[in-house]
Amino acid sequence: MRHLLRAFLLLLSALAPAACANLNFYPDEELEPLSLQAYEEATNEHGQITAGPQYEMVQRVAQKIAAASEEDFAWQARLLKADDTPNAFCLPNGRIAIYTGILPITQNEAGLAIVMGHEVAHAVLRHGGKRMTQGTLTNVGLAAVQAGLGLTEMGPDAKNGVMAALGVGAQVTVLLPFSREHESEADIEGLRYAIRAGYDPNEAPKLWERMAQLSGGNSTPEWLSTHPGSEARAQKLREMIPVLVEQEKGWRPKPPAGDQKQVAPGAIGK
Ligand SMILES: [Zn+2]
Repeated sequence: MRHLLRAFLLLLSALAPAACANLNFYPDEELEPLSLQAYEEATNEHGQITAGPQYEMVQRVAQKIAAASEEDFAWQARLLKADDTPNAFCLPNGRIAIYTGILPITQNEAGLAIVMGHEVAHAVLRHGGKRMTQGTLTNVGLAAVQAGLGLTEMGPDAKNGVMAALGVGAQVTVLLPFSREHESEADIEGLRYAIRAGYDPNEAPKLWERMAQLSGGNSTPEWLSTHPGSEARAQKLREMIPVLVEQEKGWRPKPPAGDQKQVAPGAIGK
């Protein structure tokens, strides 16, 4: 019944596309099994690195960006072995993957925080579900999701389409760019997280300039195909830095759940 209702709603959204960039007919719990399977799929394809300074950096940045997002996800971060793939993603419910191939571009911990902030923002803003709602998912993928299939039960085309809609899009033949509106939201929100996490926001325009330079070359790395870097993007971020720094100067991480109860009223400052 729910699938039937959604088919009707999707039809309505197709009739009025301009108003629908932020509609989402895919609740978190419905995307959860797909997110879990897509994460394992990408991990199995590349293999992961589970020790060493790069791994530790990924874990450290993930922890800080997760706290800065204030989202109660089942956070996980993996460093995938793919030196020739400059890519990163964050699946619904906070499953982050950083490909080793993006580390030469991020160059330092703050650069990684900018990339991770951007990807986490896509997940927090539910861009995967919104994309599927907008009908940017291939027809065959849409049919599979509406039938309630898991990734393992889908044919290769449907599986690739769903993974691309959720933001993986690396090993698959389908490259599904996020809309300009979603990209720009993720840029700003991701930068906000990086600022809250204490990283230097000035790394953001520098990172996008490095991306723009790379995309001008012969090869087009995948993360660049789905995230077109540009001078205009770097410029926009440069303008937003002082605004966001001002907005976030009083931000403090939430204490872990449960700790608040141990602090008696009036105990702070004694
Ligand atoms: Zn993006």
